[in-house]
Amino acid sequence: MEKMNVKSQVAPYPYQRLAGKVAIITGGASGIGATTVQLFHENGAKVVIADIQDNLGRDIVNKLGGKNVFYFHCDVRNEDEISKLVDTTVAKYGKLDVMFNNAGIIDRPFGSILDTTKPELDRLISVNLVGAFLGAKHAARVMVPQRHGCILFTSSACTAIGGLSTHAYAVTKHGIWGLVKNLAAELGKHGIRVNCVSPFGVVTAIGGTVLGEDELAVAEQALSEIGNLKGQILRADGVAKAALYLASDEANYVSGLNLLVDGGFSSVNPTMMKFFNPEEE
Ligand code: NAD
Repeated sequence: MEKMNVKSQVAPYPYQRLAGKVAIITGGASGIGATTVQLFHENGAKVVIADIQDNLGRDIVNKLGGKNVFYFHCDVRNEDEISKLVDTTVAKYGKLDVMFNNAGIIDRPFGSILDTTKPELDRLISVNLVGAFLGAKHAARVMVPQRHGCILFTSSACTAIGGLSTHAYAVTKHGIWGLVKNLAAELGKHGIRVNCVSPFGVVTAIGGTVLGEDELAVAEQALSEIGNLKGQILRADGVAKAALYLASDEANYVSGLNLLVDGGFSSVNPTMMKFFNPEEE
């Protein structure tokens, strides 16, 4: 029997994992999106930052030296703006390889469904779900004729376990997960992969405040304490690296995946272990 040369099947690990690719990142001016912009750019992608925070978006473009990156004002709730975002990207860079629908907002505080107002529910759905849906629609419009592409979303670990978010937020993120599966079913025949990353809590500006260094450390510590995986803190780069994998050719057969970045939080329930070993930390 012919011997298989295993080594020859393993491609050398590429440093620039997105070399030559064109990516749009919505919500790219802050937090997870901003970190992903930087990571994709470092990995050779031409990146379009789409957001409503114009100053923050333009600051990132300057920080990255202005080459192979531009900012486009886009409110993801507005279909015309999304359509123009996609068309401008294709006009400038010739194609669209990765559409990362990441823009999102939260509501608070956690409370009863009885206290959830319809305007608040509508506000969350319009950004988190309608915005992501429209992003996917217009990306598919240009990816189908290309016969390749990667549509990515930021969902949440609340898609895998109850009680992690408000009801309205959970509805929007479950909607994204449903959309991922449906789109993967429709678009696979066109060579388009569709996935989402689903993080546990990351301290960002999503709560409406930019924390100072000390407050940030306290907030991260508090999240880490309720988390499952100890000795690690989930920061924006942990989510950005998961997005990088899904956007890269390393994930060339991965579609329809909800990639949980939650240290196992949504898969475990250690209460029984604590019941039998109450002394153990
Ligand atoms: P962030 O507030 O730092 O970033 C969100 C970005 O989305 C901001 O730049 C904001 O301007 C932009 N945005 C909001 N509304 C928009 C609109 N209508 N049009 C265009 N852009 C808009 O927050 P983040 O934590 O980086 O959140 C990024 C994504 O991650 C969101 O979808 C969020 O739901 C999701 N997520 C966050 C966490 C977390 O703990 N931070 C956990 C799970 C999922």
